[in-house]
Amino acid sequence: MMDKKIYETGVFPTWCPGCGNFGIWNALKRAYAELELNPKNIFMVFGIGCSGNGVNFFNCYSFHALHGRTLPVATGARLANHELNVIAAGGDGDGYGIGVGHFIHSLRRNLNITYIVHNNQVYGLTTGQTSPTSSRGFKTKSTPTGVIEQPVNPIALAIDCGGTFIARGYSGDMPGLAKIFVEAIKHVGFSLVDVLQPCVTWNKVNTYAWYKDRVYKLEGAGHDFTNKDEAYKKAWEWGEKIPTGIFYKVEQPTYESELPQIAKTPLFKHDISSVNIAEILNEFY
Ligand code: SF4
Repeated sequence: MMDKKIYETGVFPTWCPGCGNFGIWNALKRAYAELELNPKNIFMVFGIGCSGNGVNFFNCYSFHALHGRTLPVATGARLANHELNVIAAGGDGDGYGIGVGHFIHSLRRNLNITYIVHNNQVYGLTTGQTSPTSSRGFKTKSTPTGVIEQPVNPIALAIDCGGTFIARGYSGDMPGLAKIFVEAIKHVGFSLVDVLQPCVTWNKVNTYAWYKDRVYKLEGAGHDFTNKDEAYKKAWEWGEKIPTGIFYKVEQPTYESELPQIAKTPLFKHDISSVNIAEILNEFY
């Protein structure tokens, strides 16, 4: 196991004290260390939001994308060099609201990307507005009388859209979350890890105390993650009990493996010395 300090930049996170992002940061470093990943072989893409500041806290190749655009950047990186471990990370607003179209198509495309969603059910960076996963009745600056829409269910949506690895973690259970990250990164295909991440400043409902009484592990509870129907039923369990762990997992060919141009050799290793770039560019004038 590597020393997880090699994944740190020396910049201590600026998140609010107690923010669930700390648990995710630590769990992900632990997962990288356990998998003995070389920082030079990791490419992380961050969205806009409090979680996006992680771009400054992880020592690896990284990019801070536009709002909702983590997955297009991750897709481009993976297509250009599928020898890299590509990890995309963003918030619930970034991924399930602004970027939800990319989320759906990434699931059905099945590129080998790990997507971590810091799901705190609120827009934190912009000081507390309703997000796509906010529960009905949740009061924020943008919904002072309470949310009247149904929240997005990312687990059920991911199952519907053909996801091949669908999991939920809890940032208050750092060892358990690290274990899920390890499995997600090892999965050959698109892996979603939706992480319940308390925002201690703007979400006074879904707190550590609220989760403590509700969160339980699917592992050891008789759940069969190869059974799609069972996974779908578990996806809708939310309230008194909230399951965490791997909901559904299946092996399927990745997009990279089915694209003949790059199936054998990553795009960046193609020999283009005989290609006349000027001639190609001229076609566009
Ligand atoms: Fe974390 Fe919320 Fe503070 Fe953002 S506003 S750093 S999500 S606690």
